[in-house]
Amino acid sequence: MRQGERFPYPRPSIRPLKIYAFDPMVARDTRTKIAVETRNEPLAPGPRGPRIVVVDYDATRGCFYTPVNLDDPAVLMQGGIDHSEGDPRFHQQMVYAVASQILGIFDRALGRPFDLGSAIRGGPPRPLRIFPHAFEGQNAYYEPQMGALLFGYFRATSDDAGANIPGQLVFSCLSHDVVAHELTHALIDRLSPRLQTEVDNPDAYALHEGLSDLVPMLHRFSFGTILREEVRRTRGRLDTVAESPLFEIAAQFGAAVGLKYGLRNARMKADTRQYSTVMEPHARGGVFMSAVMDALFQTYQAQVRDLFQIAGSPQSPGDDDLHPDLVGRIATEAARAAAALLTMCIRAFDYLPPVAVTFGDFLRAVVTADKELNPDDTSGQRAALIESFRRRGIYASGVRSSAEESLLWDRADRGIAPLPSVCVSALTQNAQAFRRIRPEEGERASSEPVARDVMSALRAYARTNARALRLAPDVRMDISRPRYSFRVAPDGQLVVEIIIQIVQKARRIIGVTVVASADGSIRYVIPNHPLPRFEPPPEEGKTAEAEPKAALKAATASPPRGSAPFPARYRIAPARYRLLYPELSVHARDVPVPQLDSSHRG
Ligand SMILES: [Zn+2]
Repeated sequence: MRQGERFPYPRPSIRPLKIYAFDPMVARDTRTKIAVETRNEPLAPGPRGPRIVVVDYDATRGCFYTPVNLDDPAVLMQGGIDHSEGDPRFHQQMVYAVASQILGIFDRALGRPFDLGSAIRGGPPRPLRIFPHAFEGQNAYYEPQMGALLFGYFRATSDDAGANIPGQLVFSCLSHDVVAHELTHALIDRLSPRLQTEVDNPDAYALHEGLSDLVPMLHRFSFGTILREEVRRTRGRLDTVAESPLFEIAAQFGAAVGLKYGLRNARMKADTRQYSTVMEPHARGGVFMSAVMDALFQTYQAQVRDLFQIAGSPQSPGDDDLHPDLVGRIATEAARAAAALLTMCIRAFDYLPPVAVTFGDFLRAVVTADKELNPDDTSGQRAALIESFRRRGIYASGVRSSAEESLLWDRADRGIAPLPSVCVSALTQNAQAFRRIRPEEGERASSEPVARDVMSALRAYARTNARALRLAPDVRMDISRPRYSFRVAPDGQLVVEIIIQIVQKARRIIGVTVVASADGSIRYVIPNHPLPRFEPPPEEGKTAEAEPKAALKAATASPPRGSAPFPARYRIAPARYRLLYPELSVHARDVPVPQLDSSHRG
């Protein structure tokens, strides 16, 4: 708004932006060129927002590409830049839009603005940086030291490139799945920084991979036009028709490296031996993902059954073409079920022990966190999830049966002293931040002196109550900043929780997650359990999913091969770029061209 404007226009809360729903290859089919709604925050060229900063530096070629200005009236007027493989500014818009949407999903599920700063202990909070064209190479990954997502670009294989043109440029940043996958790695890393501490725990790595595949897959259910088209095409049998793009991960990426299907597929048949036999992280993550997707299909079927009955003919899914209104209603139900399931899974992070996490722990965390908010399991989703984990042989250690009651974490003893009052009074401040997430007013306005008081009070509290908290009193404690979560239950109740993680390094790393109510009383003390003995991977454990990783690893990132990815007009030399966009500037030494064998997290 300009100074002196008499009738100012209200600032819209939504900014529409265009993205590819899958990737450009699938998008030759024009329906997948879609627009999504992102939260409207002021954006400098980059885009550079309070939490996400896109830096288009190409380490292979040592240059920058022109940053997009999403607040330019010409761009605003057309709802973002048009879909284009050849314009780096569209690529920047797409990574920003996908990241912004998924960050928003995490905000809502956790009931607080996602704390991007918490992973770097002691350091100032810093936004997540995204490099859409970080290097030439068949790879994309999250780099924890930089706090950045790095995406590579490469030429498709020349013999069997699927629907790609042999030799054409493939941009991993234009794949919705790849962007969402790497972003999820980054977010999990901040929620559970010690998830992968133990080398002998295959579940931790697999959870990272499984969730990072699950988030893009469930996120796609929010793409209304795509979902309605799939419901129409499959006549409502979303769960039984093979080869739906909905259930494939990174189709173009897979085709470009010579694989027939996408990198991974959610349609893995349940088998009670899977949990004890599949060990490769991506494949084991696939077991986790397919368990969750199974639960989605179960609840989906239950929720649309009456719609088919009301519609009369066809009596059951698949009989005949569906009426467009019915398609719309079914798609709405599917989207709702997917969103609810995704929310449940994200919420579980507040109820996970900080270390030695297993699939069984995750299930217990999901069940307990969801029960706190939604005691009755009205949608049947919790029961479906428990059942589909059971069908894959995933059991929680220390639990006798897979009945819901026995999966709940034990409630804390009544005798444990409540959290120090300074910790509770900080709630009010955080409630203010929750009330409206207003980046323009400085999301980071929380006052550091208060935070210091809270931390020293917490340290004293943990020492005094070490035994009750299942900690060793004489061993150094590493205490996380408290997380304040505000959620509204289906019955309208406001559920407020304070979550603290404490880790100790004795002979091995142990840790506990403490969940307290708004008044500071302790509800749960969730310690890590000793890891179950995992069998070594048998020979036939080399599953199909292991191949993509090998295919990706075979690639090498430097030196530059062939022509530049974009026309010269988009290139900016580093010196000039630093003058124009000092806030976005990076130095070559900060963006290492990756050694692919060591750091691949794709
Ligand atoms: Zn990954």
